[in-house]
Amino acid sequence: MTDSPVWRPFTQHATEPEPPVVRRTHGAIIETDHGLLIDAISSWWVITHGHSHPPIMQAIREASETLDQVIFAGLTHEPAESLARELVALAPKGLTRVFYSDSGSTSVEVALKMALGFWRNTGRPRHRIAVLQDGYHGDTIGTMSVGERGVFNAAYEPLMFAVDRLPFPEGDGAETLSAFEAMAAGGDMAAIILEPLVLGAGGMRMYDPQVLDGIRRICDRHGVLMIADEVMTGWGRTGRTWACDHAGVSPDILCTSKGLTGGAIPLAATLATEDIFQAHWSEDRSRTFFHSSSYTANPLACAAGLANARIWAADGMQAQLDAVAAMQAERLQAIARGSPFTNARQTGTIAAIDLRVDAAGYLAAVGPRLRAHALDRGVLLRPLGNTVYVMPPYCITADQLDQVWQAIADFAG
Ligand code: PMP
Repeated sequence: MTDSPVWRPFTQHATEPEPPVVRRTHGAIIETDHGLLIDAISSWWVITHGHSHPPIMQAIREASETLDQVIFAGLTHEPAESLARELVALAPKGLTRVFYSDSGSTSVEVALKMALGFWRNTGRPRHRIAVLQDGYHGDTIGTMSVGERGVFNAAYEPLMFAVDRLPFPEGDGAETLSAFEAMAAGGDMAAIILEPLVLGAGGMRMYDPQVLDGIRRICDRHGVLMIADEVMTGWGRTGRTWACDHAGVSPDILCTSKGLTGGAIPLAATLATEDIFQAHWSEDRSRTFFHSSSYTANPLACAAGLANARIWAADGMQAQLDAVAAMQAERLQAIARGSPFTNARQTGTIAAIDLRVDAAGYLAAVGPRLRAHALDRGVLLRPLGNTVYVMPPYCITADQLDQVWQAIADFAG
């Protein structure tokens, strides 16, 4: 593999070893030429039910018998139509429109464009965007602009647009909420974008559901659009289908990707309220929502999404989410008693803990060392700086989860 022309994502080729070659995937397991790995990070948080989940792979196979990509402007197809209906039924109330794209980042770009389009088309142009400190929404220029700035995007800073940053909501979030109220009162705030309950790439930082409720109320008072980026938190990660469900909150715009297809194949959707759709509905073609990507609503991906949505609609998931959350809690509590760790935290199926180190931050040297250590023990981890987290597919067994947490405990021990 050393002569590979592949330039890998978030990979420092000078220091990282050649990666194992994956041969097969099933359940929580990735089979490689170096042996079996337990996927403790759901392959960058996409795999929900398990790898190669039979109903989803079956749906892709069946769809591929009759369809491939077709242009989605001026044509439609059954998998996209059915999936949109299922999504509206599963989503928080009031989200009636579904715009397809192909990745988490594009779903966020679409959300930001919808928000600004809404304000422009209703004759009250607003373009300020509020964001949470330590947020992450993708790696395109627009999504980096609304995310936290740091070593991973310093080179591109000159191209990014300015946003209004709110402090991370500690405790009851009072400081964050009063800062937001003051900003929103200016009357020119178009939208707030946030990851509800768990800031993923920002270090698995978790906050209270009542903060979401507080933000919704402030949005309502000042007409600010609330964009929930559920790209990571959606499809059960936080213990409910959507993180917003914990607060009974409906955003104006919701972004979903990753678990939308159970993680098997790329697809994203941005859901919006009827008001936002109607702001773009006009005899005047200049009010069109001007966004597309070549692979919008790919039929194979939509078929996978539909198979996934039907699993959730069948209501069989809550018990499985509760079981994973309980297994995680037990193991997290056990490891939290060990001195090298601090700040144990959990929201639903996501558990995280920090290694006590002198130099924290994304480039903390401990991260790659722990990753290599876990790999040797058949566990796939990818620490965020000195934060170790376990975000498994929901099919993970107690024994597999033991092996994952043991690998972490051994490292520190
Ligand atoms: N939003 C959030 C909250 C994410 O966690 C991610 C990806 N980790 C993205 C957006 C971007 O998704 P993608 O990598 O599919 O573009």
